[in-house]
Amino acid sequence: MPYRAEYIWIDGQKPTAKLRSKTRVLPDGAELPIWGFDGSSTEQAPGSSSDCVLRPVKVIMDPIRGGDDLLVLCEVLDINMEPHESNTRARAVAALEKYGDQEPWFGMEQEYTFFKYGRPFGWPRDGLPAPQGRYYCGIGADEIWGREVVEDHTAACIAAGIAISGTNAEVMIGQWEFQIGPVDTVEIGDSVWLARWLLYRIGESYDISATLDPKPVRGDWNGAGMHANFSTKAMREGWDPIIAACEALGTKAKEHVVAYGAGIEERLTGLHETAPWSEYSYGVSNRGASVRIPWQVALDKKGYIEDRRPNANADPYEIAALITETICGAAAG
Ligand code: ADP
Ligand code: MN
Ligand code: MN
Ligand code: MN
Repeated sequence: MPYRAEYIWIDGQKPTAKLRSKTRVLPDGAELPIWGFDGSSTEQAPGSSSDCVLRPVKVIMDPIRGGDDLLVLCEVLDINMEPHESNTRARAVAALEKYGDQEPWFGMEQEYTFFKYGRPFGWPRDGLPAPQGRYYCGIGADEIWGREVVEDHTAACIAAGIAISGTNAEVMIGQWEFQIGPVDTVEIGDSVWLARWLLYRIGESYDISATLDPKPVRGDWNGAGMHANFSTKAMREGWDPIIAACEALGTKAKEHVVAYGAGIEERLTGLHETAPWSEYSYGVSNRGASVRIPWQVALDKKGYIEDRRPNANADPYEIAALITETICGAAAG
């Protein structure tokens, strides 16, 4: 029987790239070929020379179609087979090659908001919902919207072998989070992008869309972030490397913030459990700091740190490459 391979890639939209995919039907047992697409329709090439190349980098079973069908995450190359300028994965691969001996690990907390009928799922048609405060980790039909989608998504990630490590309902109405990791500097990006694709795809079946908009509703409502938790072998074994990592991030604060997602100034206001985008700080248990050292880590004197700045719409390859370069680069001296 022929099988279906869904080729998935990241486009060239600015300021925030989005996912694309198309289906290839392959003969029984056939290997996954290199493929191409029309880059002039994805902001990756001019119409006059529109071809871009898809090279498979990560293959998992397709938990929606099942059977022998596959999901094929690809990187985008130009026709000389060099990484396309939109290909941020290449930078993560280079960072891991350079600093892999420090064994960098990432866990990311992807927040997102369900939308239906043009407003957050659960938002009443007329007037305002009850203010936030009851929705975080809530239970019951008066507080929770979209759990069926979340349950399907989690099961799909587990079936496909994506390293999902948990989910929770978030502070804003219709807002949720899934956690991925810990995995290495390249695997984190592959996993977050594949998990995003599955979320959108499963949402189609419910006619519910998920947005990574970092501030989906103005006013007194939490934004959506993607906290990046990070450790090296040395950080998992001792305290001084934890502090050194926090200090290293402080030396490149601006460079990090500009790579942490479009619209970051609107989310990192200093309110709603954020630190202002223009000031760098770190502290134990402090959810109002840029970087938090979890309470348990301070107690154990080893573990990991949490960079709370990345937006929900940030590119996990870029975040992982940058954090690896900054912290591992400082440690390497
Ligand atoms: P919180 O909401 O309290 O900030 P979560 O439980 O949502 O925390 O997320 C914790 C994240 O930390 C998970 O993504 C997990 O994979 C990650 N993590 C745990 N241990 C490590 C570690 N040693 N290095 C990197 N990430 C880690
Ligand atoms: Mn969390
Ligand atoms: Mn959260
Ligand atoms: Mn967090």
